[in-house]
Amino acid sequence: MGVSMSEKLAIHGGTPVRADKIYYGRQCIDEDDISAVGEVLRGPLITCGPDVAAVEKLLAEVTGAKYAVVVANGTAALHCAMLAAGIGEGDEVITTPLTFAASANCAVYVGAKPVFADVDPETYNIDPDSIEAHITDRTRAVVAVDYTGQAVEHDRIRDICDRHGLTYVVDAAHAIGTKYKGRPEGSIGDMTCFSFHPVKTITSGEGGAITTNDPELFRKLRLASQHGIVRDPDEFDEKDPEGIWYYEMQTLGFNYRMTDFQAALLISQLKKLDAFSKRRHEIVARYNEAFADMPEIIVQREIPESDTTRHLYIIQLDLDKLSCTRREFFDAMSAENVQCQVHYVPVYYFPFYKERGYERGLCPHAERIYDRIMSIPLYPMMTDDDVESVITAVRKIVDWYRI
Ligand SMILES: *Cc1c(COP(=O)(O)O)cnc(C)c1O
Repeated sequence: MGVSMSEKLAIHGGTPVRADKIYYGRQCIDEDDISAVGEVLRGPLITCGPDVAAVEKLLAEVTGAKYAVVVANGTAALHCAMLAAGIGEGDEVITTPLTFAASANCAVYVGAKPVFADVDPETYNIDPDSIEAHITDRTRAVVAVDYTGQAVEHDRIRDICDRHGLTYVVDAAHAIGTKYKGRPEGSIGDMTCFSFHPVKTITSGEGGAITTNDPELFRKLRLASQHGIVRDPDEFDEKDPEGIWYYEMQTLGFNYRMTDFQAALLISQLKKLDAFSKRRHEIVARYNEAFADMPEIIVQREIPESDTTRHLYIIQLDLDKLSCTRREFFDAMSAENVQCQVHYVPVYYFPFYKERGYERGLCPHAERIYDRIMSIPLYPMMTDDDVESVITAVRKIVDWYRI
């Protein structure tokens, strides 16, 4: 199709594909969620109450893990995982650059050094071979991110961690509801961290959780997230405490608690996880089908081991087949009223990391992917018309810029 046959883009003054703006993601809150929160707010305990305990029990069930600890946000979850693993000064933690900064920052919080392994050019997930190539005698842990919700190659990473004596932390901020070889995300790593920020699949406003099967890690996660304080007399060092007011601070921890009204919201959201997941699957299938006909658009390769509850849908532009830049394509989408986002700027591009000696060129695959991607709208409340409008906008822009 030649340019003359293409419809004038909104960015050049044409009519936008959509009259109203659609965003790449948004929360899905209904009246049940609102009444669940209201009920807690009307009651006696708005923090440290029964809803926190209840949501931890439910999360353990949903993820197939023995234990779950809920915390204030996903970043706190990662910080607690580092603390529980005993990571500190002089240690190295291997992670991906194609993630939100918190996946690497958690290592810096405890005085360790993040080391960036490259990603697979087709799945965009951390490449196990690159993990192995970056292991030194200081490496203590791997933080693997289920990017967009697709499970990483757990079996291979688990094997690498076992052979080198590393703690395996999964950053599953994108991946609640995802299964790997039939096992839910949350039961596979030594510790799995979740985020319940409003853009994620389920939300508690702000919120996070860590799941584990290991009782000792569970105990340390509790301490890390609750000031290092224990209240159970069986766990006291002091064998004859002075009275029932007594509690004990045993380590230096943080106040990373989730409130009970957030926990109530999370319980209500967890009940809808299957429905959200189903709708996300449907939208992803429709996008995959539509983009299969557009050679200019490359989609993320899916591994058969992962039954993915997709958090983000990424399109990669084949810039050899288009006469525009990623920036021009992105801005053209915005003008059509489809507001995309880019996930993510490689973490080591940021000034904080640059100042600490990280240089461009560290992870060529991640850098090349970053230059070509954008995330298009994906959330359960999208109507079929919304989905079609996004596809129409992509097709319109591809038609215009096709070489
Ligand atoms: C959102 C996110 C986090 C941080 O979660 P918050 O709840 O925002 O602190 C960590 N890692 C990844 C991959 C994320 O997407």
